[in-house]
Amino acid sequence: MDPNTVKRNDLLAQKVIKGLQSRNMTGYYVQTKEEALKLALSLIPEGSTVTMGGGMSVYETGLVKALKEGNYNYIDREEAQDRRAAMLKAYDADFFLASTNAITDDGVLVNIDGNANRVSAIAYGPKKVLMIVGMNKVCPDVDTAMKRARNVAAPINNQRFSSNNPCVKTGACANCKSPDTICCQFLVTRYSKHTDRIHVILVNDNLGF
Ligand code: SF4
Repeated sequence: MDPNTVKRNDLLAQKVIKGLQSRNMTGYYVQTKEEALKLALSLIPEGSTVTMGGGMSVYETGLVKALKEGNYNYIDREEAQDRRAAMLKAYDADFFLASTNAITDDGVLVNIDGNANRVSAIAYGPKKVLMIVGMNKVCPDVDTAMKRARNVAAPINNQRFSSNNPCVKTGACANCKSPDTICCQFLVTRYSKHTDRIHVILVNDNLGF
């Protein structure tokens, strides 16, 4: 990353953190995935029950692997025999891990979901939500963040799952109502009612999509 981009991201991150604080959320800023992993592990006490609702950014830091190998009660819905039961356990977990589809430079989180287990757990349930977010997801306003979620994050997610939705071919949202659509619920988090619940680690890197 060239020095000008680093400097611009450093300033931008401070703005996002200030925005998060104004919305009763906590922001952190680190330069690398390795620092993000170290910080995340320092925030999650050993013995905690941890789960997640997807999020490539979280995997990219190595956090899931570290939790699985460490002294944590990590609930893995991918390996659960009863996937629904595993997903429901998320609502009473100590920590819910996620990224966000987009974040505004004044701290609003924007997320789209198909099953809604992820957006519902961000909204309510788990005692704490810990997000890991690359600076590539910072947008100037909610409208742009929504467009990013629909035209960047959702089409790539559709491609990952090889769905039949129109965005797989075009790479852009066609506002479909396909039975396979993953764009069923939209969550805009503009304030956290619960103090010390939502923590966002910004990383000066491109993470997820
Ligand atoms: S609404 Fe349909 S076309 Fe648009 S991103 Fe979602 S799945 Fe793709």
